[in-house]
Amino acid sequence: MSIKYKNIDAILPPPAPHMVGDGFRVHNFFPSYSKIGMQGMSPFFLMDYNSKVIIPPSDIPKGVGVHPHRGFETVTIAYHGKVAHNDSAGNSGVIGEGDVQWMTAGAGVLHKEYHEKEFSKKGGPFQMVQLWVNLPAKHKMTSPKYQGIENKSMSKYQIDNKKGVVEIIAGSYKGLNGSATSFTPVNLFNVKLTAGTSADFSFKESFNTGLLIIEGEIKINDLKSMEEDNFVLFGHEGETFIIEALKDSIVLVLSGEPINEPVASYGPFLMNTQAEIQEAFDDYYSGKFGYLDD
Ligand code: MN
Repeated sequence: MSIKYKNIDAILPPPAPHMVGDGFRVHNFFPSYSKIGMQGMSPFFLMDYNSKVIIPPSDIPKGVGVHPHRGFETVTIAYHGKVAHNDSAGNSGVIGEGDVQWMTAGAGVLHKEYHEKEFSKKGGPFQMVQLWVNLPAKHKMTSPKYQGIENKSMSKYQIDNKKGVVEIIAGSYKGLNGSATSFTPVNLFNVKLTAGTSADFSFKESFNTGLLIIEGEIKINDLKSMEEDNFVLFGHEGETFIIEALKDSIVLVLSGEPINEPVASYGPFLMNTQAEIQEAFDDYYSGKFGYLDD
């Protein structure tokens, strides 16, 4: 019996970058790409990719100052460099290479995101991904929460006697569960493969699935090779695909159950209706998101 592999809808090169604050130079794969839009990767609403850049040394850390969020979660994955986070719920943390921060904005939080002080002083290579994971209507106003997930505490599935590893941030892979908790079914893996090694994945046809090639060069299902910084959008036919590393590679794999609800998006808020966006602004301006020092 031959396996019908999951189909690929598009291979998307990184769009022109823009700055977020003065510290993050990002390519926005979605919602910018009309092929994906606001619903095509739901529950993932946004992917900002800071492809690898060299940050020059700076005594004053660069980043994004205090700003609000409501209605979703921000998930930041570090590949190079270090990021510091502080929020009005009293949570803070620093993530470095291989670590993940998972912040639930829920009903509303103010936060700031900067290069970590010592990293900023020295400078060096910097590479990150930030995802916005949408919340369904019934959880949009949940209390803010912060999960700092260090690489050393992640579940790791070893492939071929350490020729590869699947680090499970959220969801499950071959019976191993990630430590992050999510409000809807989400799979988020960092897949690290040495050249010549393969890993197979299987997700429900109804889930939205994609991957970002962080480093290296891969083949999927024996198709043509794909290089780093490209995003691969899968279709909804078939469940299984195989990643083969042509060079030593790192791939971020994401798959989740779509949230089939209307989306109203404005700046840092992600709600179901325009009235809720207006309410978010009103609550923000009247101080209901708390306080955070600049
Ligand atoms: Mn933010």
